[in-house]
Amino acid sequence: MSLQDHIIARIRTDGPISVADYMAEALLHPTYGYYATRDPLGASGDFTTAPEISQMFGELIGLALAQTWIDQGSPTPFTLAELGPGRGTLMADVLRATKAVPGFHAAMRISLLEASPTLRKRQAEALSGYAATWHDTIEELPEQALFLVANEFFDALPVRQFLRDGEGWREKSVGLSEDGTLQFGLGPVAPQPALSHRIEDTSDNDLVELCEAAQPIVSTLAQRIAAYGGCALIVDYGDWRSLGDTLQALRSHAPSDPLLSPGEADLTTHVDFEALALAAKSAGAEFSRVTPQGVFLERLGITARAQALAAHLSGQQLDQLIAAHRRLTHPEEMGNLFKVLALYPAQMTPPPGLNA
Ligand code: SAH
Repeated sequence: MSLQDHIIARIRTDGPISVADYMAEALLHPTYGYYATRDPLGASGDFTTAPEISQMFGELIGLALAQTWIDQGSPTPFTLAELGPGRGTLMADVLRATKAVPGFHAAMRISLLEASPTLRKRQAEALSGYAATWHDTIEELPEQALFLVANEFFDALPVRQFLRDGEGWREKSVGLSEDGTLQFGLGPVAPQPALSHRIEDTSDNDLVELCEAAQPIVSTLAQRIAAYGGCALIVDYGDWRSLGDTLQALRSHAPSDPLLSPGEADLTTHVDFEALALAAKSAGAEFSRVTPQGVFLERLGITARAQALAAHLSGQQLDQLIAAHRRLTHPEEMGNLFKVLALYPAQMTPPPGLNA
């Protein structure tokens, strides 16, 4: 049975499912789901992420986390955590860059939230030599100071999609066409209390996305940070407030139809940073301004780091380094599309590179 057959059978029994349920099946089904069955990253996979482009990304994130740890009085022990660590490249770069920070490694306990057994294996290989704990749920994070990074994690969480209709909303669904293939549909008009703040900035037929799965995750990490100290650096594509259909499928680095071959393509949506920030605030943490990745990395000194690395390189390797610097920071590449949001304890200063 393919994942497509499984989803079609589910719809035949239950009726149309929400876009969120469809995304959850396609990405996280334990046997056939996209993340369960493969390592999607890199040139041979479907997409490439910032830490896979250059070691500079993880190094600077690591130093920003370590500086925040020092600024907060070096709480010991503390959790060094990552959500959705992919191949473990980002965490490996964080660890290498922070090796020389006095006391940091002795005080840290590494926690990784990862759903995919395949990627857990890759992460264990990348972090060999370090003790790490893998978690299935965010609640398992220890009750202690938490210094956390999440790169391209929240964009992988399922979203529900709603179309504005008068003072109410019609939910977009995934159902079956007459010939039995997957197709989008629309539910009846209904009020949506969770979208009451979107009545003011939308009009008829505007589409709004709601990521319910992000709420408990952000609440829990914000509670840890508010109670014990720490910070979270959340990096992803998106904006302060999301508007419009941002669901996209990527297969072998090319866009594809999200309803075609579920489980074979990566599905993502843009992150609604306002929703994350407000969830953190209600859980007692403060949030920084949402800052473009390029600006953030420049403030942390990526150009100086690139120059230091360039001093030892020539030819093709030097060209690659220059291209990687440009790709991570340039406004026409990842520099502007990707944003950084920090969560940190109220009354404290935000992590380096970010403003209150
Ligand atoms: N942060 C990495 C990988 C990004 S891909 C990088 O920047 O390269 C998304 C990651 O999140 C993968 O590791 C995927 O398996 C994981 N993931 C996606 N949904 C998840 C969920 N609901 N719970 C835990 N991990 C999840």
